[in-house]
Amino acid sequence: MRTPTSAGTVCPLCSEPLDIDSIAAAETLSTAEALCHSCQQQPPPFTRAVAGNVYDAVRPAVHLMKFENVPALAQPLAAVLAQAMLALRPTAPTRMTVVPVPLYRGKRAYNQSTLLARHALRLLRSSAPDWQLHLQLHALRRTRHTESQYLLSREQRQQNVYGAFAVQGDVRGHDVLLIDDVYTTGATVAECARVLLAAGATSVHVATLARAAREIAVRWQPSRDGPMAETHH
Ligand SMILES: [Zn+2]
Repeated sequence: MRTPTSAGTVCPLCSEPLDIDSIAAAETLSTAEALCHSCQQQPPPFTRAVAGNVYDAVRPAVHLMKFENVPALAQPLAAVLAQAMLALRPTAPTRMTVVPVPLYRGKRAYNQSTLLARHALRLLRSSAPDWQLHLQLHALRRTRHTESQYLLSREQRQQNVYGAFAVQGDVRGHDVLLIDDVYTTGATVAECARVLLAAGATSVHVATLARAAREIAVRWQPSRDGPMAETHH
């Protein structure tokens, strides 16, 4: 199992904590930037993904917000998301279209990613007033129900979400900032980014409330080979 070493040493593309091998590689590379194993093997379609906190730190609140019908929790959690979004600010475009990852219709009374995005934008209007962020709620729709990503391997997650999203707004020429609640392998946001770029978006950045570090989420499964992550994306 890989072990995160120093906090803050993360993959510049997906924010995965880097393992010892990757950090050693970074020190010998002239670019001084090493990618995590996952991004080396398969570069993500998005420009960069950031997260506000580790999932364990916000898990109880996220669970209440999503599964126990406590949407009011989106407001304090959005402050964490807004911090993550600010980390993108120095290198991100000055004008961006903010798109929450959609739910399948009727799945829940509210979409937690939409609530988080709304509250975070409100906060950023005062902390980053020159950043032109425009919410476009229905740029994406989910075309079918997807199985819970719980206990699926990385490859299974990619298959599970493939073709599950469609672009229904006009995103041609837009720099998109995709919002989701939890990032685990990135399969969901990568699939959203893929269809947005195919529909003409110029770039896709990703900000999530929390990141379930794969090292933390991995469980030993004696009967199976792949790492098994415990969260939903
Ligand atoms: Zn990475």
